[in-house]
Amino acid sequence: MRILLVEDEPSAALMMAKGLREQTYAVDLAEDGDGALYQAGVNDYDLIILDIMLPGKDGFEVCRELRAAGSSVPVLMLTARDTIDDRVEGLDTGADDYLTKPFDFRELLAHIRALLRRGQALRPDVIRVDSLEIDTRTRRVVRAGRSIYLTAKEYALLEYLARRAGEVVSRGDIAEHVWDENFDIFSNLIEVYVQRLRRKIDDGCGTKLLHTRRGAGYVFAPGGPELDA
Ligand code: CA
Repeated sequence: MRILLVEDEPSAALMMAKGLREQTYAVDLAEDGDGALYQAGVNDYDLIILDIMLPGKDGFEVCRELRAAGSSVPVLMLTARDTIDDRVEGLDTGADDYLTKPFDFRELLAHIRALLRRGQALRPDVIRVDSLEIDTRTRRVVRAGRSIYLTAKEYALLEYLARRAGEVVSRGDIAEHVWDENFDIFSNLIEVYVQRLRRKIDDGCGTKLLHTRRGAGYVFAPGGPELDA
């Protein structure tokens, strides 16, 4: 899941970005409204965390412009002032949720999870594909009763693929939702991670889950070699 974090105070932005990355989110930063609108226009974010007090265009204006441009990306607004007016204005501009600073980081994570769930009507906390079980709250992964240890990036890749089980997922989709803007699309990093993930979740299992569709991408679904092509 890829997040755009819009916050002009560098220390707050870096601290939040670090915490979010530790939770396996891919995070891009914008420090003002125009930068945020530009990035939201060229990248497909799963969520935007938007500070209201920004230099130039403030968070309200950014949200209004996003919605006017037809974007339905979930927006979580952050504000230092907890006034009814701010809250009402935020929601009126099209924000989905609202959090008052200072907040506990765990509270931020809970709001993010709730918004990401809302994004898709059926987005359960526990994803099951064949004998694989992913608990997205604890990030615990079990295959056929056996716990599997994954690095943060491996986990992010697995969750993204599993949420789109049965579909052909392109390398571009993966680059956009699992990595941040520093990802080099010409590298073979995705292949490397897919291979590692496949080894961890499929080795020793009769039913394979992670299939390569040559020239198209990957398919995450239980099946045999007929799914690889
Ligand atoms: Ca600010």
